[in-house]
Amino acid sequence: MVGGGQLARMTQPAAINLGVGFSVLAKTRDESAAQVMSDPMIGDETSLADLRAFAAGCDVVTFDHEQVPPEHLRALAADGVPLRPSPDALHHAQDKVVMRARLTELGIACPPHRIIKSPDEVPAFAADHGWPVVLKTARGGYDGTGVWVVMSAAAAAEPFRADVPVIAEERIDFARELSAVVARSPSGQAVAYPVVESVQRDGICVEVIAPAPGLPSDRAVEAQRIALTIAAELDVVGVLAVEMFETRDGDLLVNELAMRPHNSGHWSIDGAVTSQFENHLRAVLDLPLGSPAARAPYAVMVNVLGGLPGVYPAYRHILARDPELKVHWYGKTIRPGRKVGHVTVCGDNLSELRERAWHAADYLRGETDE
Ligand code: ADP
Repeated sequence: MVGGGQLARMTQPAAINLGVGFSVLAKTRDESAAQVMSDPMIGDETSLADLRAFAAGCDVVTFDHEQVPPEHLRALAADGVPLRPSPDALHHAQDKVVMRARLTELGIACPPHRIIKSPDEVPAFAADHGWPVVLKTARGGYDGTGVWVVMSAAAAAEPFRADVPVIAEERIDFARELSAVVARSPSGQAVAYPVVESVQRDGICVEVIAPAPGLPSDRAVEAQRIALTIAAELDVVGVLAVEMFETRDGDLLVNELAMRPHNSGHWSIDGAVTSQFENHLRAVLDLPLGSPAARAPYAVMVNVLGGLPGVYPAYRHILARDPELKVHWYGKTIRPGRKVGHVTVCGDNLSELRERAWHAADYLRGETDE
């Protein structure tokens, strides 16, 4: 797996259980995944030489993020390296212009948008779609870093500083955000996880509820159908997460794609028969996929954003307080607002599960001492 973040780290237990040799290409030895591997390769995923050296030791190469340059991916593919997902598929998760164009071609609804060349074009877009306008850089964004919400042309300079296309997008007054996670193998087998609700704050996911509470079953099936269609049409191999807006009229608009295990699927480690990490591995190895079914009526996952320096004193309290709580800690240096871990609880009383998960995350962040 190229990348040494928490997604690679959480893939490792699945690889251990399946008895699959698993390595990562990480930037440093103390990156989240590299810490827990016996033999990570330390290198730079933007260097073709490093990617080639890493791929030489692999039967199959997959990814924990989208930041590998597309031209390097094509060079590796030309070398004959089995890349899963393929560079062509991955391109749609790397470039929002490419993704929006392809989804529109497939007849899949997205927020109304237009590629613009300068801040001067923002008012014309707003005349058609209203203020505020959402601006996004086509490439390089994650966790909301490439997203701006602006009220005027004067406020729209920032996105144009990077030398990449900028998309103006209607600000959708959505009822909530949903995510449909599917896994697909090269032979075309696919499974769809229950559709979840994901709650974002400042562009970062803070909470996921599986399944999305009160989602009518026909809409849930529609969300899964959209994700399975995208996976099949783009020939995605591995996990595909499709982030959507559920509008107040009940429509589904696709916002974003990720072709790797995704934050909105972390609940599946503790809450599903087969985790997204295991199904990602099974898919890229072309093994039969495991059941994505939930093991409890609800699972609630809360991210820990920032935290206390020493986690053990907090563990003594939260683990004793809630023996059913599952904690996943990523071993990352703690900085305010950084995703450093998550907690999950599963059961049938949703409001109680949310209270328990939020309490544990708040305690780990040092925001409560109860
Ligand atoms: P990134 O790729 O950086 O994660 P996203 O496109 O997923 O960026 O946007 C991050 C968050 O910003 C979304 O989850 C959503 O909460 C908000 N957002 C993005 N686009 C829109 C939009 N058109 N209307 C309203 N909110 C949006």
